[in-house]
Amino acid sequence: MKRRSALKNIGGLFLLPTLSKASLPIEKKAVLRIAHLTDVHLKNQFNAPARFIKCLHHVQAQSPKVDLILNGGDIVFDMNKENIGTINEQWKLVNNTMKNECSIPVRYCLGNHDIWWNEDTKGDVFYGKKYAMDKLQLVKPYYSMVQNGWKIIVLDSTHLDIDNTWYIGKLGNEQLGWLKNELESTPKTIPVMVMSHIPILTALLMIEDDVVNKWTMLGGDMHTDTAKIINLFYQHPNVKLCLSGHLHMRDKVVYNNVTYLCNGAVSGAWWEGNRRETAPGYGLIDLYADGNFEEQYVEY
Ligand SMILES: [Zn+2]
Repeated sequence: MKRRSALKNIGGLFLLPTLSKASLPIEKKAVLRIAHLTDVHLKNQFNAPARFIKCLHHVQAQSPKVDLILNGGDIVFDMNKENIGTINEQWKLVNNTMKNECSIPVRYCLGNHDIWWNEDTKGDVFYGKKYAMDKLQLVKPYYSMVQNGWKIIVLDSTHLDIDNTWYIGKLGNEQLGWLKNELESTPKTIPVMVMSHIPILTALLMIEDDVVNKWTMLGGDMHTDTAKIINLFYQHPNVKLCLSGHLHMRDKVVYNNVTYLCNGAVSGAWWEGNRRETAPGYGLIDLYADGNFEEQYVEY
């Protein structure tokens, strides 16, 4: 028995190097590692600052290291129905936390809660998107960048509804034209990832209680111009991946070879537990040079 097992081991030792050379796949290395943190809704309540710091440290402890954080919007708890003192406190908390607790570069997307829709203050410098854009040093609410061979397009989902009272998800003509031009001017060999706050496409709106014979979907919950955007992506097969948040739940929809990830929420249910079955977390995405990617939802 002893001799037989010894022989087997020797056989194994001889076999292993041959196997690793001939039949194991060559390990590919990601060119860019992204952490997608969305719906942080930061404010000094529910122990949110400490829990957000824990999340930032979790991201920074990842191995391999995260190259870039994408903040998907709803950065502060809420700018609506709040006075300027409270709004200033929330942004101060965001800026101090990021300055003191995060050494990874961050790019931001605006969410509906980062925008002040209060009609009484219309004409005020704080009205609309300007306040948040100043705090985040954004020149425009939508923009693109190229990093490590990938193009990242950040969209501005949130616009006033047709009756000018609240918001819906859409790009509007000007931004849609810009996106079209952005995609046309990007070489076919450069893979594209898109980030928006409101999902372009999601199945999450079908998870409703007490459905009798129809579902109710609000224009503020998903982009209302999805058909136009999807048609545009269809003409540009180098668009691979779309990231969103807003719904605080996690899903993954694949349509026309584009993957649409709604990446839960750092705050879970606004810092009060899970939102339905989705726990507080963030997306971790490895992007490869050939346009492939790997993604996971990380509970911190
Ligand atoms: Zn939102």
